[in-house]
Amino acid sequence: MTERATPTTAPDEPHDEAHEGALGTRLNWLRAAVLGANDGIVSTAGLVVGVAGATADREALLTAGLAGLMAGSMSMAAGEYVSVSTQRDSERAALAQERRELRERPEAELAELAGLLERRGLTPEVAREAAVQLSERDALRAHARVELGIDPDHLTDPWHAAWASFLAFTAGALLPLLAIVLPPSGWRVPVTVASVLLALTCTGWTSARLGAAAPGRAVLRNVAGGALAMAVTYAVGSLLGATGV
Ligand SMILES: [Zn+2]
Repeated sequence: MTERATPTTAPDEPHDEAHEGALGTRLNWLRAAVLGANDGIVSTAGLVVGVAGATADREALLTAGLAGLMAGSMSMAAGEYVSVSTQRDSERAALAQERRELRERPEAELAELAGLLERRGLTPEVAREAAVQLSERDALRAHARVELGIDPDHLTDPWHAAWASFLAFTAGALLPLLAIVLPPSGWRVPVTVASVLLALTCTGWTSARLGAAAPGRAVLRNVAGGALAMAVTYAVGSLLGATGV
């Protein structure tokens, strides 16, 4: 048994996500998309409502909203790219080490695999037989799955992750941006606040359901967070607008 600095999932837990297969992965992606959209809604809503507190100039609102959308979506994409790249690097390093260990001490690795299978509920004899069969077919894959909890053929692509969060943030940010520039002057802030709070109800509910949590409190927290962001920036914007800074 070899200690690893950065295991991606606990290999012994019978229900870690890597073992739930395609459905679990898809739900994780969906949840990340909803949370990314939520970020886009809140940060852009706070920005444009703040600017609307200071000025009624549509061009200024559009400029601020677009700049916020671009800055936010690119920062999300860059952050996601870095974090997924780092994770993939450590997964590749773990796989390389596993490959080396399989070459250098195959018997110890076979015993290790059998031990891990036994801890999942197989009898020693069956675990041994399963370990032998898995190792004959593809030893590295068997160790990657059972020991590391990763699928060596489907490591997450950092560019894929970056694009996904870029698009999710942009989709969310478009709502407050359009809500602040399309209506006539007096309606901008009320329309934006109402549509943002409605959208945050949907994203809060969806992400709670995808995470198998009770939606009530999640929705309340999500809506309260967005409302607070808009209230604070609107107050600051109005103050600056009134004092003519
Ligand atoms: Zn191993």
